[in-house]
Amino acid sequence: MSYQHIVVPTEGEKITCLGDPQCVPDHPIIAFIEGDGIGRDIMTASKRIWDAAVEKAYGGARQIAWMEIYAGEKAAGLYNGDYMPAETFDALREFVVGIKGPLTTPVGGGFRSLNVTLRQELDLYACIRPVQWYKGVPSPVRRPEDVDVVIFRENTEDVYAGIEYAAGTPENEKLARFLREELGAEFFEGSGLGIKPISAFGTKRLMRSALRYAIDRGRRSITIVHKGNIQKYTEGAFRNWCYEVAREEFPEQTITEDELWEQYNGQAPEGKIVIKDRIADIMFQHMLLRPTEFDVVVAPNLNGDYLSDAIAAEVGGVGIAPGANIGDHVALFEATHGTAPKYTDQDKVNPGSLMFSGVMMLEWLGWGDAAEMIARAYEKTLEQKIVTYDFARQMANANEVSTSAFATALIRNLDA
Ligand code: NAP
Repeated sequence: MSYQHIVVPTEGEKITCLGDPQCVPDHPIIAFIEGDGIGRDIMTASKRIWDAAVEKAYGGARQIAWMEIYAGEKAAGLYNGDYMPAETFDALREFVVGIKGPLTTPVGGGFRSLNVTLRQELDLYACIRPVQWYKGVPSPVRRPEDVDVVIFRENTEDVYAGIEYAAGTPENEKLARFLREELGAEFFEGSGLGIKPISAFGTKRLMRSALRYAIDRGRRSITIVHKGNIQKYTEGAFRNWCYEVAREEFPEQTITEDELWEQYNGQAPEGKIVIKDRIADIMFQHMLLRPTEFDVVVAPNLNGDYLSDAIAAEVGGVGIAPGANIGDHVALFEATHGTAPKYTDQDKVNPGSLMFSGVMMLEWLGWGDAAEMIARAYEKTLEQKIVTYDFARQMANANEVSTSAFATALIRNLDA
């Protein structure tokens, strides 16, 4: 395919499929979106770290061929005001794996979230967020090392489907009339109205990917988080459909929490994943008080969104939490925080979230040695108390450095 502004690197090769390291050549072309605000600083620093680790781990036998693609303000400058050019989607479909910095979304008007558009257009239905603590990271809890969960958040439906009608519009009035007159619904005059679709299809494919992940990585339990006591036919149905997938498609590998106690006296047999569920509000409390009880977590879109940031706070906050949006054909790894516009181009912020998203990407490519090397060098750098401003304000005697200097220090520690 030919592109208007995207330059395909001549020295790289395409990744041909997702989820199988056999499909990854030694010089894969990987697409990146720099991002708005602090995006430029963290992308520059992170690419230096990933490249250095790959070089170190494979002695030049493997190398990423970076291909810049565009979204957000940089795209608008290049494509005549278009913040999300069609060729960005085409390139991600063609090259399969990408990584992105944060993108600006205006609140309460303007254009639709670029992040949500990317996830929906490319059908990236699973938002995966591993949350674990790295030694030395300042944390507000006493035992951050107890937190080690991977959140699978549904990424395409729920209230994010964008089916919303502003109060006072003809569409809103039509829907309000239908709800009142045809279905007997009662609500205040002049309400804004939104629809929350949750389907068996959307839920089951998410649960399937969480189960495959848990099986591949030897995880011990999956907790379905929902608000099904109140929203019975959306969140409650989500819970039921998740159990259905485990029961019908993975009967050999799973047991329910009830079976765990009734048949196994609370001790899961080797190779069995325990499937349990928790109502969302108590889950927030349990994640703080008893984090060791949770392993893989599966949640609908909005609850998953809240829960991911809340759990990330226990191990150092969104400044270092990584994430990925993954479908059946495309994977897009991304920093989980926003554009922090007040720090734009100040070379100041923590590159950790994007950097660890890249670590996740390296693991996904089957390049685990490079991924592991970065994680170890990160801990070493923190041990030396070399940190960006956000961690420096929570640590005694920290050596506060810029984004780029942090990357330099970490790269130096790849040797260690
Ligand atoms: P934000 O950009 O995440 O920033 C909130 C605060 O979090 C910052 O002021 C800063 O805290 C801290 N922070 C964020 N990134 C950091 C980093 N790398 N290192 C250290 N601290 C960091 O959230 P926001 O201000 O609510 O949103 C700004 C814009 O980003 C909005 O347009 C929003 O829509 C967009 N957004 C995009 C994404 C995405 O692209 N995936 C996600 C969320 C938000 P201090 O002020 O305490 O230093």
